[in-house]
Amino acid sequence: MLPPIADRFVAGEDISTALDHTRALNDDGVGAILNLLGEHYDDPEKATQDTETYIELVEAIAAADLDARISVKPSQVGLDISDETFADNLARIVDTAADVGVFVWVDMEDHTTIDATLDAVIDCAEDHPDMGLCVQANMKRTRDDLRRLVETPVTVRLVKGAYDPPKRLAYTDKADVNRAYRENLAYLFEHADHVAVGSHDPEMIERAKELHDAYGTGFEIQMLMGVREDEQRDIASAGYESYQYVPFGDKWLSYFYRRVRERKENALFAVRALLS
Ligand code: FAD
Repeated sequence: MLPPIADRFVAGEDISTALDHTRALNDDGVGAILNLLGEHYDDPEKATQDTETYIELVEAIAAADLDARISVKPSQVGLDISDETFADNLARIVDTAADVGVFVWVDMEDHTTIDATLDAVIDCAEDHPDMGLCVQANMKRTRDDLRRLVETPVTVRLVKGAYDPPKRLAYTDKADVNRAYRENLAYLFEHADHVAVGSHDPEMIERAKELHDAYGTGFEIQMLMGVREDEQRDIASAGYESYQYVPFGDKWLSYFYRRVRERKENALFAVRALLS
């Protein structure tokens, strides 16, 4: 069972607890994006196992009639093994998801994976347009990737970027990343059919609302479980599409550690939880 200290950021260890969490979110008008925790498998069996759990998950979401999507990490379903393994496993998940009407997001990992991830997702989306891909504003290449993506059926989730790419490839200064985020957000509202704003930043969320008013482009706001949850509900109550990214599974420790490391408030929360 998940220790109480981790359950702010992780929904539970199995599909049924993830679906319970989703039900509670849906009651407040918030959709879920379910992510089975796991990454960087070099063992094909592990990649197959998580692929099969995702297939089980999309079937369970459809059977329970919940407002939920999934989000898959490329290295969890085979990218560290080979591009072909990743493409095959992703296609298996997306085939079933399309059959039962569940949208599939693909996360973006470190800079070495971007080309292979883009190619596989764009390829897969030719047959199954209900797909989305995360794109990182801190990467200098991102505008070119967006130009390519807006010509495809793939929906983009724009985030600031969670990895530490080399300076020659990425903006590393916070102000530069924010500027790149604002500019790429505007580009998406101007050129895409729908935009996913993956950010907790009030400035970016306000900017998205203004861009929606200017261009009429549909959009949704996505935040992580455990971060600004009141705001997630308020956004939904105000009539905007609000989604919570909900990690679950037994590999929660490294994810929890990442959340605690990235922000002082999260670290204080962890210390308080340990003391109580
Ligand atoms: P930050 O720049 O971290 O913060 C800006 C402002 O937001 C803060 O000043 C504060 O006002 C507010 N804020 C931020 N955090 C908090 C908090 N805990 N409590 C209160 N206020 C807060 N990255 C990837 O590289 N690949 C992915 O696939 C990916 N998927 C993601 C999916 C979702 C749904 C989200 C929300 C993020 C994802 N990320 C991903 C992470 C992302 O790249 C950023 O690292 C992360 O979201 C932090 O950036 P930010 O835009 O939220 O704002």
